[in-house]
Amino acid sequence: MRSLLSLFLEVLAIWLLFPFFKWIGSFTHLGIASFFSYFLAISHIQIIDDYFQGLSMGKIAKKLNRSAATVHAQIHSHDQVIGKFGYCVKCRRLKGTHETEKTIAKA
Ligand SMILES: [Zn+2]
Repeated sequence: MRSLLSLFLEVLAIWLLFPFFKWIGSFTHLGIASFFSYFLAISHIQIIDDYFQGLSMGKIAKKLNRSAATVHAQIHSHDQVIGKFGYCVKCRRLKGTHETEKTIAKA
């Protein structure tokens, strides 16, 4: 027989976790695959924003705890996609401030 205490703890756990599941659920309309690309896009915007603020690739890598190669790849793909479509897909999706600006133009 289940004790009243374990029942109470179960209800408490569900009650505590419910907002978390609800939060996860808010992403499900994006699909699981884009759930991950969403987080990748967030770091993309951070990298691009920092780069436009004048930080070097090395400093951004250190700040965001990413490899310099990742930072370089994000900046490169940002410029490349703008060259192709006229705007950066990742930046537009998350309403980045530099969606049509190439980083090369700055240099
Ligand atoms: Zn971008």
